[in-house]
Amino acid sequence: MALDMTFFDEMEARIPKGKVRTRFAPSPTGYMHVGNLRTALYTWLIARHAGGTFILRIEDTDQGRLVEGATDVIYRTMAECGLTHDEGPDAGGPVGPYIQSERRGLYGRYAELLVEKGAAYYCFCEKTESEEDSGDFDRADDPCRDLSAEEVAANLAAGKPYVIRQRIPREGTTTFHDVSFGDITVENKTLDDQVLLKRDGLPTYNFANVVDDHLMGITHVVRGSEYLSSAPKYNLLYEAFGWDIPTYVHCSPVMRDQHNKMSKRHGDPSYEDLKAQGYLTDAILNYVALLGWAPKGERSEQEIFSLAELVDAFDIAGISKSPAIFDMDKLTYFNATYLRAMSPEDFAKAAEPYIRETVKNPATDTAAVAALLQARCEKLTDIPGKVDFFDALPEYDVEFFTNKKSKTNAEVALNMLEAAIPALEAVTDWTQDAVHDTLIDLAAALGVKNATLMWPVRIAAAGKLVTPGGAVELCHILGKDETLRRLRQGCEKLKA
Ligand code: GLU
Repeated sequence: MALDMTFFDEMEARIPKGKVRTRFAPSPTGYMHVGNLRTALYTWLIARHAGGTFILRIEDTDQGRLVEGATDVIYRTMAECGLTHDEGPDAGGPVGPYIQSERRGLYGRYAELLVEKGAAYYCFCEKTESEEDSGDFDRADDPCRDLSAEEVAANLAAGKPYVIRQRIPREGTTTFHDVSFGDITVENKTLDDQVLLKRDGLPTYNFANVVDDHLMGITHVVRGSEYLSSAPKYNLLYEAFGWDIPTYVHCSPVMRDQHNKMSKRHGDPSYEDLKAQGYLTDAILNYVALLGWAPKGERSEQEIFSLAELVDAFDIAGISKSPAIFDMDKLTYFNATYLRAMSPEDFAKAAEPYIRETVKNPATDTAAVAALLQARCEKLTDIPGKVDFFDALPEYDVEFFTNKKSKTNAEVALNMLEAAIPALEAVTDWTQDAVHDTLIDLAAALGVKNATLMWPVRIAAAGKLVTPGGAVELCHILGKDETLRRLRQGCEKLKA
């Protein structure tokens, strides 16, 4: 029953050749793990560095685990991160479809081809797949491995349910090469006759990845090191089909600490969580790039990389096989660096929604508030708690007026506020410069250090010990009436 090869020849003819082609192949789980984001980034960088093609493939054959809206998360994250794809479900391309469930018709044909080549067999055992996974069943004794062609045909004709399994040679060894891990050799007898095609006709990941990577012309496969142990079986499949084996780049896991992998289930943040915690996409990407990859040569000391710089600097040889520990403090440092490097306009735009969480007064100039914050926050989520006093003066302790370094105590503070109020009342054009000059001139006239005047004014204006910005900036943003009201309130407090 020789198969008609026309179909396979046509599929071969579609495969683009001669350029680097990489793919990111997420399963739609509903969120983007830090490890997944890193895989996406490295895969994209390999393609872009080589002027190649980057493909997005959705691996949704595990129908039991489908999550509503999960593919949207993938598209949104990729777009937000600037990891543009050249081919994919939405972009189309020469080797589509790019969603595995839409390719379901293909896998059965390739599984049959493999049966014909002797590298796979029909298995009619009634065991459920979970029973087999339990380990109680010894696959080496599977009688289906040696069924005659007639017996198989009779079973198929009788409509018996079946899976198709890979026929692993019992003897010998298989070697594969990984860019970071080098050559790895395993004894074939340690490999199991894994299911390639399930009873529902859908492929397992272990089969689909090989068929799809070949049919999509993938030259470099980047994925997590959890797939390392299966790589020998993939090589046996490639060899049985007579296909070229791609370059493998297996990445070590991203760890929470020395012993534990990061995991969403244990509360470690996904990309979306990090965004919600106030981290910038660019900072996250930059940090993630360095989790398991290090630049070489003249860039070996460089830490801050734009995406374009990464494209230029990225090389597969810089990927490390040792697991990387995700360090939140380090990410925070990257984030602060990115916040500081933004133009004041961009920062004001990014900060505005966070300022508006606590500053509801429409008269407050959020750009002026943002200017105070840019050098003083590490994450955007630091903002609301730092600026809440603009809307309403908090209850504060009169002790706040006492500060040794500024040479103030309750008595000095009252004198200062009583002098500042008429001086500020006289300001007609409430600009920052006018407020500044008025207070500086007043300190000189009173014969005190600037700080002796500024400290109580700032405390009275904000009701907080720590504020973004000094007395002058705060009074300017609060406006004349509100400043005077708060300063008078401060006097009352000091007199009480
Ligand atoms: N769908 C697999 C995953 O999300 C992809 C593995 C691979 O890239 O081959 O883990």
